[in-house]
Amino acid sequence: MNELSDVVWSDILGYVRTQHRPIARAWFGQLQAGTLEQGRLTIRVANEAQLSYLREHCVRPFIEGAQAATGHLVTVEFSVSPELDVEPVGTQQASPEPPRFEGESVLLHLNPDYVFENFVVGPCNRLAHASCVAVSESPGAVYNPLFIHGSAGLGKTHLLQAICQKVLDRSPSTRVTYMSCETFVNHFIEAVEKGALHGFRYRYRHVDLLIVDDIQFLAARERTQEEFFHTFNTLYQLHKQIVLSADCRPSEIPTLEERLTSRFNWGLVAAIDPPCLETRMAIIRKKMKMRDMDLPEDVVMLLASRIKSNTRELEGALSRLRGIAALEGNRPVDIALARRALGHDDQGSPRHIHIQEIMSVVTERFGVKLSDLQGRRRSRSIALPRQVCMYLARELTGHSLNEIGGFFGGRDHTTVLHAHKLVEQRREQDVSFRSRLEQIEAALRQS
Ligand code: ADP
Ligand code: MG
Repeated sequence: MNELSDVVWSDILGYVRTQHRPIARAWFGQLQAGTLEQGRLTIRVANEAQLSYLREHCVRPFIEGAQAATGHLVTVEFSVSPELDVEPVGTQQASPEPPRFEGESVLLHLNPDYVFENFVVGPCNRLAHASCVAVSESPGAVYNPLFIHGSAGLGKTHLLQAICQKVLDRSPSTRVTYMSCETFVNHFIEAVEKGALHGFRYRYRHVDLLIVDDIQFLAARERTQEEFFHTFNTLYQLHKQIVLSADCRPSEIPTLEERLTSRFNWGLVAAIDPPCLETRMAIIRKKMKMRDMDLPEDVVMLLASRIKSNTRELEGALSRLRGIAALEGNRPVDIALARRALGHDDQGSPRHIHIQEIMSVVTERFGVKLSDLQGRRRSRSIALPRQVCMYLARELTGHSLNEIGGFFGGRDHTTVLHAHKLVEQRREQDVSFRSRLEQIEAALRQS
């Protein structure tokens, strides 16, 4: 006689609970594994009500779970053991309207904040967002696979988890597997070591939606690539949805086999670019709302203009602001406090760059006079260097918009905002302008 180990039994229960959420019941915790003999697993149940519920709804899920956990062909039989009936188990628990299985999101490791409603759409991520929404509305039907790429902190994980949550909301019985590629690799290594490849394959090839985050982690892992290749093919042939993310396009993942690269390109490849200033501001406002924070507009602007490439850092800055405000007796966050939270002194300059230095480098590089920059003339030849000065003052010093405007001939804060935006846009679109700006910034840092 073979007693089933606790580990295997909890794997089976875990499988049924995650992969067959609608039929799972709270009282499954009371079930006990009996013996596993000649491919037949006995499961002991407390009473007749449970028995009939299990026989009617749960035979297949438990068979699948047992096969996944043991890696063998196993059938399952339920039998009543009245001694298990320690607390009254109301028959209502076997009623067709199930309590939602609470552990599900924990097991899937989904962040409840990562839903579409909390995602800010801008020009940088419009296609990626739209394709994720489309996939979540009809998995397997529109883009397969869907491949999202972009650098760290730009929202890939957020979008991938939003797909999971939307799919599960719409149709709770969908078998969803979401994981980081690292977990996939580790599971695979473990399965090889334990000789449990059959179970591993069963686990990954019997899903409706497979989402693997940070697939670049497959680089230089030959055997896992091979395994993933077969997983991919099986699911693809069954029209099951596959969603992948990476920090670069498929062809740029080093040492990824060509057959995988080409498959990753079969469906839709969508990029997420760094967010522009407006999108960064909108993201900050969204995060403020989620945290019930209230910040003045110039603070939002300060954060958005200082932190550009990684949205995660924006969130970090918001947390720091909140922390510092709390330390100071919950005083409202103003621009001075915000500058300190970002690691700058009250006078502003993080690298002790002064507006005068900016003006002197800009006048030199653009061949204009200092008096012109501070004067009222609006000709194009003056307007651009003046806007560049305002932009750099905004970026590199801690002065407020009004202070900067005042410096440049008594202009108000909207002029500075406008200048900042124009320069930012041009910086993104015009390569030679960008490199000119970078040279100026480098000169300022050295001075
Ligand atoms: P990645 O996986 O690309 O490294 P994440 O998805 O982990 O990035 O995003 C980092 C943080 O930034 C998360 O808290 C996420 O909610 C937030 N974030 C990124 N982009 C957006 C966006 N467009 N709207 C709202 N939040 C965003
Ligand atoms: Mg991520």
